[in-house]
Amino acid sequence: MGKTLSVVVSCYNEEMALEQFYEETAGILKKLPWSYELIFINDGSQDGTMRVLDLLAGRDEHVKVISFSRNFGHEAAMIAGLDYSSGDGIVCMDADLQHPPEYLSQILEKFEAGYDVINMVRTKNESAGWFKNLASSAFYHLINLLSDVKFEPNASDFFAVSGRAAKVLKESYREKVRFLRGYVQSIGFNRTTIEYEAGTRVAGESKYSIKKLITLSLNTIMCFSNLPLKLGIYAGAGAGLLGVLMMIYTIWSWARVGTPNGYATTIVLICFMFAVLFLIVGVIGNYIAILFAELKDRPIYIVGETKNFKE
Ligand code: UDP
Ligand code: MG
Repeated sequence: MGKTLSVVVSCYNEEMALEQFYEETAGILKKLPWSYELIFINDGSQDGTMRVLDLLAGRDEHVKVISFSRNFGHEAAMIAGLDYSSGDGIVCMDADLQHPPEYLSQILEKFEAGYDVINMVRTKNESAGWFKNLASSAFYHLINLLSDVKFEPNASDFFAVSGRAAKVLKESYREKVRFLRGYVQSIGFNRTTIEYEAGTRVAGESKYSIKKLITLSLNTIMCFSNLPLKLGIYAGAGAGLLGVLMMIYTIWSWARVGTPNGYATTIVLICFMFAVLFLIVGVIGNYIAILFAELKDRPIYIVGETKNFKE
């Protein structure tokens, strides 16, 4: 039996882009030596995304659809796609054609060559704007500094994993607060990268707000590093040192001038100490929130309906 490629595409309000995405991607997939399935996840879209997906699934049996009961986010959608996929290789990509389907043949070659994890690395991303690009590079520097897992800078949600790598992701990485890209980088196996140029969105607008990105970044840092949790130790040491310096200064100025200006010093110290204290309480609070989410063990996603899946 020939091999199968699963292409996982998460869609949130993508009715404008989907037809074109399907035409281009299916056109390329048809020419590849592997058979394929095209899995679309409707992540609780409010527009006509489901209508378009219904049409596509009716027209082409390669098209399979998972529809969530509400919006669970891009990460949950990719996980659902992995869960439902049955291919020997699985590719995750965006629905807006920013991840060019032309690269699918190169990805297939890498699978044939025995690679398990193929990271697609952006060489440039003009449409994101300087702020997003700067923030993204700062984020990768920070996380690489703090975490044992080495993250590929400019890695994107465009990546491919072999069947056995996908099995690991499906079975062992069911965290509620998560960063799929990080797991992909940390599972090992034979890894390789392909560089690509991110295109511009074909239609509609970006679904990732700055707020969503900040939340994702903070959670990722905390999921992949325990260093912030140890901030208290450093802050305690720093504050202790500061206290000693202040004491020396006070004694010194008392010896020289007679009466030191205690009031200003006290206010400065109190503000500084409380700032440090609250910061650390906040950091610990965030870790507890993550623990709480894991403890509650709520589903990562809820499926409302599926189309064209066998069983
Ligand atoms: N997406 C999703 N659920 C969401 C937000 C986004 O499934 O809650 C999908 C979206 O439809 C697209 C992909 O994630 O296929 C990437 O989103 P987008 O293109 O808006 O992000 P950007 O490329 O601007 O970072
Ligand atoms: Mg996009």
